[in-house]
Amino acid sequence: MGRNKLRRAQRVKILLLGKSGQVGWELQRSLSPLGDILAPGRSDELCGDLSNPDGLAETVRAAKPDVIVNAAAYTAVDQAESDPEAARVINAIAPGVLGVEAARLGALLVHYSTDYVFNGSGDRPWSEDDDTAPLNVYGRTKLEGEVAIRNSGCRHAIFRTSWVYGSRGKNFARTILKFAGERERLTVVDDQFGVPTGADLIADATAHSIRSWTDGRDGIYHLVPDGVTTWHGYAELLCSVARSMGADLKVREIQAVPGSSFKTPAVRPSNSRLNNAKWKAAFGLHLPDWRPGVRRMLTEIL
Ligand code: NDP
Repeated sequence: MGRNKLRRAQRVKILLLGKSGQVGWELQRSLSPLGDILAPGRSDELCGDLSNPDGLAETVRAAKPDVIVNAAAYTAVDQAESDPEAARVINAIAPGVLGVEAARLGALLVHYSTDYVFNGSGDRPWSEDDDTAPLNVYGRTKLEGEVAIRNSGCRHAIFRTSWVYGSRGKNFARTILKFAGERERLTVVDDQFGVPTGADLIADATAHSIRSWTDGRDGIYHLVPDGVTTWHGYAELLCSVARSMGADLKVREIQAVPGSSFKTPAVRPSNSRLNNAKWKAAFGLHLPDWRPGVRRMLTEIL
């Protein structure tokens, strides 16, 4: 796809994978003004199943999209520890296949990755060219997916994001609100730092990136809003805003605890801060503070 092809095209053909996830759901909305979206599900005749890389390749060849947006992933971080092969096929092998097929067509591949590619040391926001060293299977498979896409030689944008929430799907915000309605006391980790990112922001930023795409932009970008918090700070904001909106919450205390007090199969990084300056400079847009997006999501789900 040449420099101006997207601009010339009246209707861009987009192949969207993972349409029912948090980000995929919002992409169905945000990408629709750009053109025609083909979004096969896992069990559709046109294969949208990332655990079937051959079927996926056939789908790309049949659809001949201008743009492929891959929002599908194996996101069960703890489960991945005991199911590494399945995670690897979906998070690494399938994105590599998409890359090869995109290169063959000259299509642009937009893919998402994670703060979990880093080891979480220090307190500085990670830049795109910092060394990666994932702590768990999920992070390793996501990193392998990044490398496979870059090695495929296709046009690509890999957006690393963190702590994704949306009004649909499973996420920390919905879990906290559920527990806050049932329990008087919650314990939440206060030594892991990062930023909650709305699926709607990711989807809108993706649409903008595609619309304004020009040659030479291939690469990895950190796509997160401004600001930083901890899971505990995030939980405090969720509960106080929910209460101010009239939610009937039982919770009286949110106790701050270290991550080491929760024994989980997968180790989590302490420092998930991502520096978003490269995305802002490349695509010429502001990325807002994280809190208004959380408030907005609460108005939608309460
Ligand atoms: P979700 O878990 O909400 O959605 C993942 C999607 O992938 C679901 O639609 C799921 O389908 C689909 N999927 C899983 N396995 C397959 C498969 N074999 N074939 C086809 N589809 C499959 O994820 P998010 O929307 O939150 O994540 C979007 C991207 O952002 C991912 O790349 C993720 O790694 C990344 N990311 C997410 C973070 C988070 O906190 N959630 C943090 C950092 C990065 P189904 O609904 O049928 O299970």
